[in-house]
Amino acid sequence: MIPYGRQDISEEDIAAVEKVLRSDFLTQGPIVPEFEQAIADYCQASFAVAVNSATSALHIACLAAGVGPEDTVWTVPNTFVASANCARYCGAKVDFIDIDQQTGNLSIHALSEKLKRAAQNNNFPKVIIPVHFGGASCDMKAIHELASPHNIQIIEDASHAIGGKYEGHPVGKCEYSEMTVFSFHPVKIITSAEGGMITTNNAAMAKRLTELRSHGITRAPEDLPESAEPWYYEQQSLGFNYRMTELQAALGLSQLQRLDEFVTKRNEIASFYRAQFENTQIGYLKLEEQVYSSYHLFVIQVDKAIRRALFEELRANDIGVNVHYIPVHFQPDFRQFGFNRGDFPNAEHYYDQAITLPLHPNLTHEEQKYVVEQVIKHTENLSS
Ligand SMILES: *Cc1c(COP(=O)(O)O)cnc(C)c1O
Repeated sequence: MIPYGRQDISEEDIAAVEKVLRSDFLTQGPIVPEFEQAIADYCQASFAVAVNSATSALHIACLAAGVGPEDTVWTVPNTFVASANCARYCGAKVDFIDIDQQTGNLSIHALSEKLKRAAQNNNFPKVIIPVHFGGASCDMKAIHELASPHNIQIIEDASHAIGGKYEGHPVGKCEYSEMTVFSFHPVKIITSAEGGMITTNNAAMAKRLTELRSHGITRAPEDLPESAEPWYYEQQSLGFNYRMTELQAALGLSQLQRLDEFVTKRNEIASFYRAQFENTQIGYLKLEEQVYSSYHLFVIQVDKAIRRALFEELRANDIGVNVHYIPVHFQPDFRQFGFNRGDFPNAEHYYDQAITLPLHPNLTHEEQKYVVEQVIKHTENLSS
């Protein structure tokens, strides 16, 4: 089976992890801060805080933004459940903004309409979480312009998008957001096995995130009584153990050296796919002009009447296709909040037509050609 995504592990990656195993620190050593600084530099952000997953990152990012039981968080239905669950971990309500059919990303029109309704009822969300679907940044400037008059904070879920660019600047720069979250799960662009990172330009938020990932404990002299003993620390709020290990950081740091190479390769494969599907009945998501995608995913769109059969044919022919995403509001655990089919028609319509093709840096040209040939052949057979 040709997998839809796969990590690329080099001898250098292995050596970096082995070096940590032979060192004094498996956790809370020097490599996590080094990885954080390298990500902050890459993203041109002031701070980066490493955690054990993007799910944890989203949770403490919401807490650092002050999300609590009185609040509402908006995200999109076309995402992994973690983008919405983070609000629920804080006791907050979740609501969704429909997507744009062309890009699969948050629809600026839908956001603008939803904000007008929120203004009538004075129930603005505390936080909006745009998701950079497949590695393509949302229109952050437009989102920021709509959100900032109402003091709505923005947390970018860039789990797919490290190495991507918006208006020529790296995703994670937080020009139009408070924080940006990355995932280093093995199917994502670079991996630390499990792992996540939050970038921000806000020093107070970075400090809060650092406390929250480690039990809410502070050892900073300025936060402790002047007479504090040398061993003294304080838990000043409730936090978690969301720390990244040194092994994970070493792998992530080593992978970061190849990030641009990975993203270039992913873009080459995506261009090949696009060129092959142009002028066929197979649709694919479009990129906005100001966006350079990291191409975590390549999604094709076919008639909903043949989607399932095509999916099954491709799997039967050893092509590890997938579907991203089942709209989050379809999940049984979200129905308790009163969501129904039909609530977010664009995300639902998009979902009915979507198939994710294999895309990773080591996909050979033969494999790419085989995928294209099989997709076209079975789509034609099923449509006739
Ligand atoms: C993968 C993913 C997450 C969760 O990442 P983990 O590191 O596995 O916790 C969150 N949001 C989106 C959009 C993702 O794709």
